[in-house]
Amino acid sequence: MSAPRAPIELREFPRPDLPQGAALLRTLRSEVCGTDVHLWHGRLSGVPYPIIPGHVSAGVIDALRGPVIGIDGSSLREGDRAVFFDVHRTCGRCRACTVHRTPTRCSSRRVYGITDSATEGLFGGWAEAIYLEPGVGIARLPEAVSLDDYIGGGCGLLTAVHIIERAEIRLGDTVVVQGVGAVGLSAVALARIAGASRIIAIGAPAERLALAHEMGADTTLDLAATTLDERRQAVLDATFGEGADVVLEAAGAAAAVPEGLDLARVGGRYVIAGHYTDVGPASVNAHHQINRKHLEIRGCWGSEVRHFLRALSILERHPAIPFRKIGARRYGLHQLNEALADAEAMRIPKALVDPSL
Ligand SMILES: [Zn+2]
Ligand SMILES: [Zn+2]
Repeated sequence: MSAPRAPIELREFPRPDLPQGAALLRTLRSEVCGTDVHLWHGRLSGVPYPIIPGHVSAGVIDALRGPVIGIDGSSLREGDRAVFFDVHRTCGRCRACTVHRTPTRCSSRRVYGITDSATEGLFGGWAEAIYLEPGVGIARLPEAVSLDDYIGGGCGLLTAVHIIERAEIRLGDTVVVQGVGAVGLSAVALARIAGASRIIAIGAPAERLALAHEMGADTTLDLAATTLDERRQAVLDATFGEGADVVLEAAGAAAAVPEGLDLARVGGRYVIAGHYTDVGPASVNAHHQINRKHLEIRGCWGSEVRHFLRALSILERHPAIPFRKIGARRYGLHQLNEALADAEAMRIPKALVDPSL
């Protein structure tokens, strides 16, 4: 991706010389997520174009200059099926890292496929190979986890793990999930695992709402076929007229915020995670929607290595959750413009990249 709005180009890179502790991953799958569409639209600041997009990816270790120790503490070997945490170079020394304990806001932090320039090498998944520099968190993909489930969950699953952590869902909670994209669909599944007794998903189109049911939603409300009042009434009817214990925003639309505030009960919690880009201000009545409601509002930005590892455990323990269905279609490297167009038009929840096609 040489610049925003420019067509995706195929370029050749030299095979990197591996320093001690580095590995080369032969890419089996990467993904085209909402972030990639934002990158293509030039809506994220500080992106060092040209970039090789594709931040969450999976592959086989093709070469390494050892020892390369995985996050589980054991040595990785050539031929291992491996995945890696896309965030690297978090410094561990700045105020965000140490004083505020918010490493996802560390200013040294870099992300494969997003803030790594292609001028530095193979730092992205839309490629036949990915350079894993020393210090990148690498894990073997557990034997029981299929490639398609891992990448179907992908970055949305990692974000959802963080959202559920921020939400502190309690056993028996009623949870509303706003948005049924890759993040919202994973959040539905994880809310169930976390103990929610009733999950209401709001979004569109109908096929994604059907998938939300498969992921664990009890009720879905079609954004295109219901009014604001009808959705609010449906949530009240399901909650003794109180509103939801927890509302999770994964919609990325300004209008979702005042609606989400209304759907939460008095003393409830609202986690905002979908506003990854600036979609403009939302209008809020602080008296009615926050103060008098005694509402707790939390933001949630990015993910940390622990969310990556927990995602792997969840995938291993819950093979029945159809994460693979979020990744609707595979595209080869020469079909990436088509993949971006399909993702942009939201024709599919997530496009997958398979360099072998
Ligand atoms: Zn830092
Ligand atoms: Zn992503």
